[in-house]
Amino acid sequence: MLIYIDGEFLPKAEAKVSVFDHGLLYGDGVFEGIRSYNGRVFKLDEHLERLYDSAKSIMLQIPIPIETMKETVLETLRRNHLSEAYIRLVVTRGVGDLGLDPDKCPKPSVIIIADKITLYPQKFYEEGLEIVTVSVRRNYSEAINPRIKSLNYLNNILAKIEGKQSGAEEVLMLNAEGYVVECSGDNIFWIKNEVLVTPPVHMGILEGVTRNSVIDLARDAGMRVEERVFTRHDLYIADECFLTGTAAEVIPVVKIDQRAIGDGQPGKVTEKLIAAFRQFAHSCGTPIYATEA
Ligand code: PMP
Repeated sequence: MLIYIDGEFLPKAEAKVSVFDHGLLYGDGVFEGIRSYNGRVFKLDEHLERLYDSAKSIMLQIPIPIETMKETVLETLRRNHLSEAYIRLVVTRGVGDLGLDPDKCPKPSVIIIADKITLYPQKFYEEGLEIVTVSVRRNYSEAINPRIKSLNYLNNILAKIEGKQSGAEEVLMLNAEGYVVECSGDNIFWIKNEVLVTPPVHMGILEGVTRNSVIDLARDAGMRVEERVFTRHDLYIADECFLTGTAAEVIPVVKIDQRAIGDGQPGKVTEKLIAAFRQFAHSCGTPIYATEA
């Protein structure tokens, strides 16, 4: 495996960062998780835009232009002969001293790892997930805005730990006001009377690339989609529920806090959206390898 670090492609064993990198010392940096299907990178421009937006928000100047980054992501995939891949793109604040001051870090580091994708077991798509609400609240937007995909993921990790303690694969997170916002690594949707609902981004969620694609696909299919505030009660009495994320794609939820959602089986609309998303993801994207003329 060849890993891109700051202009070089290095074998896995040699791909290392300094112990003085503020990405390690303070979680100071940003990242993306991207996927390729069938030799094409899904929504690469959207992921890169979110990366550069996250960096801008934390006043981190990514040392290469977005076009160069795009080409470098593709080159990393080529060097590893990958077609179906999971790409982890990381930009750290770079090497500094032991203080917090980001101005002591003159050169941010860019890391691109491209690996085979680990898929969720098929069983989850057929039978659906059971999730639970955790006591850990999603970051308060004025503290660490969840819209920033930063290296500081402790909030999500603490939620994940709590979920695992009750045997849940994914967890439901509320914001400081107690409204449903998202999961530890996925966005949430529910359906009632054929209306699809998901929280708006300003409530304190990561604006998922998969989320946005699913909203578009649902609207294209003629569904009403609402981005609005809701509570756990709305979820408990929903007809259907599902999560979205780059790794998970669209995954049904059949139980929340021990309450069966709808009839306790993956819903019909959810199943249609799973199929529509898969078809869409396999039929578009930036080609990794030169296409035939
Ligand atoms: N919310 C959080 C907190 C995430 O980390 C992620 C990405 N794993 C998502 C939602 C889903 O975003 P995307 O569809 O862009 O992968």
